Amino acid sequence: MANSFDLIVIGGGSGGVRAARVAASFGAKVCVVEEFRLGGTCVIRGCVPKKLYTYAAGFSSTFDVAKSFGWSVESSFDWTTLVANKDKEITRLEGIYGSLLSASNVETRADHASITGPNTVLLHKSQEILTADKILIATGGKPFLPTIAGIEHAITSNEAFDLETLPKSILIVGGGYIAVEFASIFNGLGVDVTLAYRGALILRGFDMHVREGLTEEMAHKGIKVCLGTQPHAIEKTPDGLCVTYSDEMQIDVDQVMYATGRTPNVEGLGLATIDVELGKHGEIPVDEFSRTTCPSVYAVGDVNGRAALTPVAIREGQAFAQTEYDDNPTTVDLSIIPTAVFSNPEIGTLGLIEADAVAKYQDVNVYIARFKPMKYSFVTTETRMLFKLITDAKTDKVLGVHIMGEGAGEMIQMVGIAVGMGATKADFDRTIAVHPVAAEELVTMKEPTYRIVDGERL
Ligand code: FAD
Ligand code: NDP
Repeated sequence: MANSFDLIVIGGGSGGVRAARVAASFGAKVCVVEEFRLGGTCVIRGCVPKKLYTYAAGFSSTFDVAKSFGWSVESSFDWTTLVANKDKEITRLEGIYGSLLSASNVETRADHASITGPNTVLLHKSQEILTADKILIATGGKPFLPTIAGIEHAITSNEAFDLETLPKSILIVGGGYIAVEFASIFNGLGVDVTLAYRGALILRGFDMHVREGLTEEMAHKGIKVCLGTQPHAIEKTPDGLCVTYSDEMQIDVDQVMYATGRTPNVEGLGLATIDVELGKHGEIPVDEFSRTTCPSVYAVGDVNGRAALTPVAIREGQAFAQTEYDDNPTTVDLSIIPTAVFSNPEIGTLGLIEADAVAKYQDVNVYIARFKPMKYSFVTTETRMLFKLITDAKTDKVLGVHIMGEGAGEMIQMVGIAVGMGATKADFDRTIAVHPVAAEELVTMKEPTYRIVDGERL
């Protein structure tokens, strides 16, 4: 039958496309159903456009430094050009995703899919019913917005990429990845940015020095970082939007952007028909092989709530296909996830933060280097680069690496290989430094900045 498959994948994003292509390469007959655009969040309205906009924003500070090296630079910025070039690029990538699927003999349907039973899926527009031995849910996530008066006036990252005009001022609510990345993007493009975060320090879950360091750096760049602040109403005014905070303070801005987390995309998916119950954050619980409680249904990527990052979704999709279609049971090791935050300055981080290292290991050494990057030799700047290593004092094993500064994302990818192999501080020290690069700090920090024994800093 034309609509009968070995595997139906719901969601044509990072995890779904990888699973579909690899399963097809092992001989499975596969159909991918995508309701929006092939490529998913990462390609269409996540990592890719975000990184392109980060590059765009980065030029403004480069122009300033260039002058100190003798350049005369006249610059102006055109938002419409950036949006149009971004659109061209993501359309190109979307096309590549489509070609890769058809080259792998994967069928695609442009439709919204609902599960109607352990082996059946209904397509809403066409009313087609598909059947398959297995169903893979790879539906990703969507922005979460808290309920406050006037929240309908706020945008999320979905809309921020395609604003008709660049706002003169913006309030960004949240203190996670998306909030700090977009604060840096808009700041670099010349927008007056206020960042409002409900907690005491942005980037909860990251190492303390990075959290403090980025807060300071953002303030140096002119971003108004308001901590312990929670808007409770947004009102439309003739000139823009007026936001009232919990402490009755008010701010007038052109745009308000909420970056207050993302929730798994499970609405209308029909999970009740297969008795799959959601976890406490709305995610689809799975085991290490991405199996749900329904034996024919699996879930990979953001929707299973393990780690909302593209490389994790891709690895889970790959592991699922190898396990189910190549008789090669494969799990994904999530114990060390190198990750980058594309703020300005950038953050690269992996392994344990200091607080967790201290809780888990009783005796830890902490090495910190903070310095003015060489690129800023000729200008007065408060910008500092940060390198921090945390080691187990007993075994010398490197437990955590936290970097803030230009190239931190690129560096942490490489360091991840060594730390994943169980590198010790002595292994780092034995490595000959590359000079003059910032990363040489990783192999030249001789004495611990401090040691923490049984909770006490020595
Ligand atoms: P997605 O890529 O979200 O794909 C899910 C797809 O399913 C979507 O295309 C959706 O339209 C479709 N779909 C949903 N429901 C249905 C349905 N019922 N029927 C049919 N189709 C459906 N991660 C990084 O690693 N690095 C970054 O720099 C980074 N930057 C990001 C920046 C932003 C602004 C955002 C929002 C995210 C970013 N991420 C980043 C996270 C990354 O985008 C996600 O982790 C990744 O896309 C998850 O892949 P996925 O396959 O699980 O889901
Ligand atoms: P995050 O979970 O990173 O951050 C959400 C932020 O919103 C936190 O500061 C949180 O505060 C705050 N928040 C949550 N609920 C509320 C509320 N009701 N009112 C006010 N503030 C609230 O989510 P993001 O949306 O930034 O990003 C989603 C995920 O996408 C990331 O976790 C990451 O996995 C992925 N991503 C990865 C990127 C990368 O790799 N560079 C870039 C962008 C996204 P609190 O901390 O107090 O809970």
